[in-house]
Amino acid sequence: MSAAITQDVLTVPRKLSDSLPNLVGMTRAQMRAALIAAGTPEKQAKMRVGQVWQWVYHWGVRDFDAMTNLAKDYRALLAANFTLAVPQVVTRQISADGTRKYLVRIDGGHEVEVVYIPEEDRGTLCISSQVGCTLTCSFCHTGTQKLVRNLTAAEIVGQVMLARDDLGEWPTPGAPRVETRLISNIVLMGMGEPLYNFENVRDAMHVVMDNEGIALGRRRITLSTSGVVPEIARTATEIGCLLAVSFHATTDEVRDQLVPINKKWNIETLLAALRDYPGLSNSERITFEYVMLQGVNDTKEDAYRLVELLRGIPAKVNLIPFNEWPGAPYKRSSGNRIHAFADIIYNAGYASPIRTPRGEDIMAACGQLKSATEKQRKSARVN
Ligand code: SAH
Ligand code: SF4
Repeated sequence: MSAAITQDVLTVPRKLSDSLPNLVGMTRAQMRAALIAAGTPEKQAKMRVGQVWQWVYHWGVRDFDAMTNLAKDYRALLAANFTLAVPQVVTRQISADGTRKYLVRIDGGHEVEVVYIPEEDRGTLCISSQVGCTLTCSFCHTGTQKLVRNLTAAEIVGQVMLARDDLGEWPTPGAPRVETRLISNIVLMGMGEPLYNFENVRDAMHVVMDNEGIALGRRRITLSTSGVVPEIARTATEIGCLLAVSFHATTDEVRDQLVPINKKWNIETLLAALRDYPGLSNSERITFEYVMLQGVNDTKEDAYRLVELLRGIPAKVNLIPFNEWPGAPYKRSSGNRIHAFADIIYNAGYASPIRTPRGEDIMAACGQLKSATEKQRKSARVN
């Protein structure tokens, strides 16, 4: 299998942000204010935002000079005052199964990972919301990374843009509209806890959903949280995307160990917030993610307890076979265990798909992400 792995070091020069404000990642209102501050007459501002927006988010253009429906001096004004910057791709690895993992560099020399997962009927981009994570779930590689900073909205939108660059997914002028999208879905399931970076995640998703740009529908975006209860409702009211919750255990005792945020908001509190979730309906069910750890949370009793806990919540359960990483304190449950668990959930009336691990050969699977700089730092210490 490893023979098919490719790893390219991409040397395409991309502007990291210089001192100029970055138009990427701004909401329409923010962009309007920025253009006015740079000298755009107020009366024209709305139209200018529309034009720039279409160039950047529909056509994927990041060079002001190529924005040919703008007068030359207006292009010069934009170039003198703004930049259009997305994170820089440092390496791209392609798994034998087609999964692509990008290591990207952001300001300050930090790095995050972005994963593209092609499937028969869809293509999912898994994006990060933070460098590292302040939470320390015991089964998650990202949680062992100390260094943390929130990503800006530009850095979050930029992950979608650089993946579209790499996949060649921007439309070509004059070509017929392509209906099948390579990136048809986005999951906020990369590094970080998105609800601890709510405003930037929200603004970024509004840019991605905007109909005159990348135009991904709100139901094609899923935000995964470990259970930051006070912020959960805002996911529905302020973003409108789908919700997934990292549930992983059926007793507080076990969940305290696996997902330590449970000590702050326990299972009962979390479930109450989910029952009240404003976006909840049968067509927009909450996904309960459940990582299968051998001998920890994978018994039939667990499955029956889970069914009881879910009662009254439109839900589906996504079973995730544990993905191992160097030094991980857990093992993946056996296939038999996972299937037996799935059957119990399914027979109780809930969809219970088992997530196929993707990109394992390039450490791109759920919970395996961690910045290479951080890894290098660690190994330097060991040596
Ligand atoms: N911080 C958010 C989103 C990122 S994690 C959250 O925790 O929900 C995305 C999913 O991968 C979560 O359900 C997480 O619990 C799961 N995950 C983490 N480490 C894993 C591992 N080693 N194997 C399988 N799934 C893992
Ligand atoms: Fe953070 Fe999610 Fe990993 Fe927990 S599972 S440490 S919340 S990224």
